[in-house]
Amino acid sequence: MKIRVLTTVVSFVLFFLWVAVPPNVSAKDPTGKYVVVIDPAHGGKDAGVSLTRSVSEKDITLAVATLIKRNLEDSKTLAVKFTRMGDTDVALADRVGAAIKANADLFISLHVNAGFEKESAGYELYFPGFKGQDGSKGAPKGESAAIVRDMVRTKHLNESVRFAQILERRLDPVFPRMDRGVRDAPLLILQNLNIPAVVLEIGFSTSPNDRKKIQDESIQAAVAKAVADGVREFFQ
Ligand SMILES: [Zn+2]
Repeated sequence: MKIRVLTTVVSFVLFFLWVAVPPNVSAKDPTGKYVVVIDPAHGGKDAGVSLTRSVSEKDITLAVATLIKRNLEDSKTLAVKFTRMGDTDVALADRVGAAIKANADLFISLHVNAGFEKESAGYELYFPGFKGQDGSKGAPKGESAAIVRDMVRTKHLNESVRFAQILERRLDPVFPRMDRGVRDAPLLILQNLNIPAVVLEIGFSTSPNDRKKIQDESIQAAVAKAVADGVREFFQ
């Protein structure tokens, strides 16, 4: 008898999970394509970190974003959108807003890093972690609502981690990192995004070697191709 009750409970939970948690990724674009929103961080008055007197983080992030888009242009399943097109100021909230408005399935924010030591080098990937997350604001009350919310959040976290790991594998050969890698962080831009999201710090402006590499067009193209291939793999 106890086993039958247990079976009923288990089937109910499984059904509940099936209903509450949608499949891995969902195509919401009217054309049926997955929407990837790329955020070339900074822009306009906000130049980000500077690499030379005339080249700043905002230039690099837009250049690499444009190359990623070009790599995915022929895709029949992916549509790429940007949070900014030119050298314009875009508030953080508007960047997140752009992803929400576009019904994005994946969000990638591009940055250039800066470290305290010259030895800090290579790319870094961040995904939204459990730390500092508070999904209780404005959400339905009650324990079951909280459980569903946690499950959806966990699913997005899992998907963000999965994407970060794909990128890690693809970026390692083109822009090796020096003992840095993939981290869980409560980054402002990644909060309030209910989709898989990562922040990619392409390299360190404070490392003389990285600084050179980040500005090298062939390295930019290789990084962009690695990211684009990673995006294709993620949605396969
Ligand atoms: Zn930045």
